[in-house]
Amino acid sequence: MKRKVNVVMAVMTIYALLSMLQTRDSAMKVKETIAAGREAVYREENYVKTKNTGNKKIAITFDDGPHPQYTEQLLEGLKERGVKATFFVTGEHAELHPDIVAKMSEEGHLIGNHTYSHIQLSERNREEFKNQLIKTNEIISGITGKEVIYVRPPYGTWDKKFETELNMFPVLWTVDPLDWCSDNAACVAERVVSKADENDIILLHDYYETSVTAALKIVDRLQEEGYEFVTVEDLLVE
Ligand SMILES: [Zn+2]
Repeated sequence: MKRKVNVVMAVMTIYALLSMLQTRDSAMKVKETIAAGREAVYREENYVKTKNTGNKKIAITFDDGPHPQYTEQLLEGLKERGVKATFFVTGEHAELHPDIVAKMSEEGHLIGNHTYSHIQLSERNREEFKNQLIKTNEIISGITGKEVIYVRPPYGTWDKKFETELNMFPVLWTVDPLDWCSDNAACVAERVVSKADENDIILLHDYYETSVTAALKIVDRLQEEGYEFVTVEDLLVE
C-alpha cells in the first residue's frame, strides 16, 4: 500500500514539473511576441508626443490592471506623493475589482480602456475588438459614472477609423522600460529616469509588484527633478 502511494506521488511530482516547464516555455514565447510587437511600434514611431510647453509635465500610465493587491499599493503610494496617473484597465479585471476602479476615479486618476480581454487587433477580429471596446467602456462608466474617451490598444495596434466610429482616442507611449519582463525594480526605474523628458508618456503595468515598486521610485526621482505628474488628458489637451 505504502509503495503504491509512493509511486503515485512520484508520478504526480513528475507531472507537476513537466507542466511547470511548459508554462514557463509558453510564458517566454508570449513575452518574445510582445517584445517584437513593441519593437515594431517603435520603428513606425507610432506614438503621440506633444510639443514642449515649458512646463516640466510628464504622464505615468499603467496597463493591464487592476490587480487586487498591487494596484491598491500603487494607489496608496500615488496618493502620498500627490500624483495623478492614468490607468488603462481591461474590462475583465475592472469587472473583478470594481471597488479599485471606483477608488482610482475618486482619487482623481484618469481611466482608459485596454479592451475586455487584452486582445490584439488584427484583420480578422475587427468587430470583436470594437465590441470589446464598447463593452469595456460600459463596465468602466457603470462604475465611475464618467465617459471613457481614451484607449490604449494592446500591443499598440490600432485602426484610425475607430476614432470617428467610437469617439475614442488612442494613447500610446514614449518611454517603455519593458517592466513586465524584469524583476529588478531599481533597474526598471533607472531605465525610465535616464530617458524621461518633458511631455513623455511612461508605460508601466500595475499588474506586477516590481512595476509598482519601480513606479514609486520613478515618481520620487522625477519629482526631485521638478517634474509634475499629470494625466494623459492634461498632457495632450494643453
Ligand atoms: Zn497590456
